[in-house]
Formats: sequence, structure tokens, C-alpha cells
Amino acid sequence: MAYAIEHDRMLIGGELVHASGGEFDLSINPATEEVIGRSPRSTAEDVERAFAAADAAWPAWAALTPSERGARMRAFGKALRARAEDFLRIEVADTGNTITPMRGDVGHAVDSLTYYAGLIHELKGETIPATAENLHLTLREPYGVVARIAPFNHPLMFAVARTAAMLAAGNAVIVKPPETSPLSALLLAEVAREALPAGVFNIVTGPGATVGNAIVRHPGIKRIAFIGSPQTGRAIQRSAAEVAVKHVTLELGGKNPLIAFPDTDPDIIAAAAVRGMNFSWQGQSCGSTSRLLLHEDIHDAVLERVVSAVAGLRLGDPFDPATDMGPVNSRIQHEKVLSFFETARHDGSRLMTGGRRPPGERFAKGFWVEPTVYADVKPGMRLWQEEVFGPILSVGRWKTVDEAVELANSTEYGLTGAVWTNDIRNALNVARRIRSGHVWINGCSNHFLGVPFGGMKNSGVGREEGIEEMISYTEAKTINIMLG
Ligand code: NAD
Repeated sequence: MAYAIEHDRMLIGGELVHASGGEFDLSINPATEEVIGRSPRSTAEDVERAFAAADAAWPAWAALTPSERGARMRAFGKALRARAEDFLRIEVADTGNTITPMRGDVGHAVDSLTYYAGLIHELKGETIPATAENLHLTLREPYGVVARIAPFNHPLMFAVARTAAMLAAGNAVIVKPPETSPLSALLLAEVAREALPAGVFNIVTGPGATVGNAIVRHPGIKRIAFIGSPQTGRAIQRSAAEVAVKHVTLELGGKNPLIAFPDTDPDIIAAAAVRGMNFSWQGQSCGSTSRLLLHEDIHDAVLERVVSAVAGLRLGDPFDPATDMGPVNSRIQHEKVLSFFETARHDGSRLMTGGRRPPGERFAKGFWVEPTVYADVKPGMRLWQEEVFGPILSVGRWKTVDEAVELANSTEYGLTGAVWTNDIRNALNVARRIRSGHVWINGCSNHFLGVPFGGMKNSGVGREEGIEEMISYTEAKTINIMLG
């Protein structure tokens, strides 16, 4: 059968291949529930082949000079950019994210390749003056084979931008794309095959519970970098520990606070609160500021504006540039968001807009939900504590700064946070007291290349997107040279 999206091979050892068992998973367009493509359902045998190819490839890759390796990475970026429109088309159909902001994903992926290609000379060791009779020095060596396991919200971007540092450090890579949106990775397989030496970049698709788990449990893959939910992150830590001593970093979820002080303009806060929710990809962003904490003096004015803006978001075809919000990614995700609507019916929160599947024939098929705002959300409620990873904004109120900080820190998460005020002392004091890995002052949502990103508490371990990420894919080797 022919599919709308025809790419259906993954990449192992420089070959475009199907899974060893010959099986496939079908990919569904979340806007229509139509089958649009298929991806190989890999087996543990495929993971073994990918490992063998990567293990054979990394020594030569690591032996390239920084300039040579950097040049290969930049060429890879150039090849990706040449197919940017094809990637965009696949990504919008397979994820449901809206087209205009998704145009940035390939660019961001290429910029990350360029950034890390330029940092390779910074893989420096040290000399340490420990004794006079020895020269003590350290070298940075790649792990060898490193795995990246990625979530569904920005599959292509994560597969490239979050493997660039691994490649820069001299590793060969195995990527495991998300099972609900794997199709862009299959075009990526074709581009990477042309641009990089065989075995340096491998892609194995399939379910997390089998393929992901086989990667995590592979004794030869010591370094695993994961982006996804806290539950899976902890399962990966457990599985990895059962097999070997491994270095696992985790970029997990968030229930991120945006604290607005009374000295701010309600129009500006309302716009920031809506922007911080990332409705363009249905709120499916780890960094979404999904808890809006308003000072009581501006609470009603901001809430009114937020509700009006969210109610006015245009739901529809993700390919239409005028669309503000598409469908959520999958049936599972859809059921999850609907379950939050159900819980909220009885929890005492106040539904301000949304809270249901949109009515009408147009939305009868597809994983649609309305963009939603609840007011009077409180710490005891599920909406306060659990990440929805969907288009639901919860609003709470505070009186004192101590209360605002306590509310901000009252979940198991600690990924991002935002503080809005014109008072520099309030801004910095509160930013320092928020237990989150990434805090915006008078901003939200943006990532900046080179600036570390990652979570405290149950939002993760490790930092990505800066030089620290590249160093984290190396191990230090100490050498002592006796001079006497
Ligand atoms: P998920 O945890 O369900 O899946 C993520 C990946 O892990 C997928 O590729 C999946 O196949 C794989 N996987 C599942 N079970 C596995 C197992 N047992 N062993 C190995 N791999 C396994 O997450 P998701 O639903 O795809 O993504 C949503 C989550 O990702 C949210 O919690 C969100 O906050 C988080 N996220 C975090 C960041 C960040 O930078 N912190 C960025 C984006 C998304």
C-alpha cells in the first residue's frame, strides 16, 4: 500500500533498512486519524546491529581533527536545510503542531549543529599542579556509543539539535524517535546517510517499551540521554542500573509557574501567559508556564484578558498558516487531556473557557480539544500538581511574595519558571528562590542557543543546550607523567 509519506526506512551502519522482523507501526495524522505512513518496528536484534555499527564507527570519527569533524557536521546541517520544506510537511502531518512556528525547528536543529561544530576545540583537558615531580593532566574522551531517546513534540529538532553535542564530542549516536511521530526521522535517515560516515549516526524506530528498553539495557551503551516523561525517565534509570553502571541524563516534564506582580500591565501579562502556554503545539511543551500565579490586585483584570485571548484562538488545520492550535499528538494524549477535564468537573476549580472536545462535524475525527483555562486552581488539585502536556492553563492567586514562592515550589517539578515585575529586587529574589532549572524574568518559553536548559527536582538531571552538554558526552582521563 502507498502512503502519503513514503519514507519508511531507518538508518543502521550507513544502510537504509527495515526492521529485522519485517514489521511496521502505522503513523496517524492526529488532525484526521488517517494513516499517513509507517515506520519499522525494530527489535533487540536491530539495536544490536546499530550498536555494532556505531561501535565500529566512533574511533575514526573521534580521530578526526576538530576542524574536520566540525566541517562534516556543518555539511550535515546544510543538507538538512536543503530539505527543510519536506521536513516541515512531514512534521506537521505527523505531530499536529501548527505550521508557522514549526518552520523554526529545522533552523534550530541546523543552528545547534553549527554551534557545537564550533565548540569542538573546547573539548580541553587541564593541567593540575599537584606535585613538582609529575606533570598531571586530563584528557576528554568520548564515551563511544551514545543514545538519544526523544519525545513526540519536536521529533526532528530533538533528533538533530540534541545529538549535535554527542557528535561534536566524538561519539557515534543511536537515536530512538518517538513512536507516535517517527516519520521525520525516516527522512532524516536519508539525509544523514549521505552527510555522515557510515555508522556515526543511526536511527532505530519502534516502541519505547521494547526498542527503547533494549537500548537502555544494552551493556555497551553507557551514556543515555533521555527527553520525555518523569515516569519513563525513572523506568530508564531503574533498567539501566539493572544492567550496568551508566550515565543517564533526564530532561523531563514541568508544571511551571509564571508569577505576575501587581506592578505589571495586565495586557502584557495576559499576552505573556498565553505565549508561555505554547498553544501552537497544543501546550505540549515541557517548559510551558501552565500555572499562572497572579497577585490578587491584578488577578481579575489579567484573568479576563487571558480568557478572552484563549477563547479567541483559532483551532483547525495545522497546515493553514492562520491556525493557532492543532490537535494533540495521539489518542493516548487526547484521552489524558480529556481526563483532566473530567477531574476538574468535581475539584472546585472554575472553568473559564474550553474544557471539552470542540463541537461540530469538523472536529468529530481527530484528537481535538479546546484551549482551556481554569481559575481558582489550588495546590491540592490534580490540575495544580500534574503535568497535562496539553492546552490547559491553570490560574491561581497570591498576596505576599512568600506565598507566591511557596506556591511556585509546591509541586514535584522544577523545570522552568517566570517572574514578571518591574522591580529588579523582587525579580532577582524570587528568581533565586524558585526551585527550577530555568527562570525567565519578564520573559517565557524561549530557549537560547548556548544557554543551559534542564530541570531540578523530578524534572530531571543534567543540563542541555550549552557547552556543559557537550562535556557530558565525554569522560575525563587523567594522566600523570613522572618527570624525575
Ligand atoms: P514518553 O516518556 O512517553 O516517551 C519519550 C520517549 O521514551 C519515546 O521515544 C518513547 O518511545 C520512549 N520510551 C518509552 N518507554 C521507554 C522505556 N521503558 N525505555 C526506553 N525508552 C522508552 O514521553 P512523551 O509522551 O513522548 O513526551 C512527553 C514528555 O516529555 C512530557 O513529560 C514532557 O514534559 C517531556 N519533555 C521534556 C522536555 C525537556 O527538555 N525537559 C522536552 C520535551 C518534552
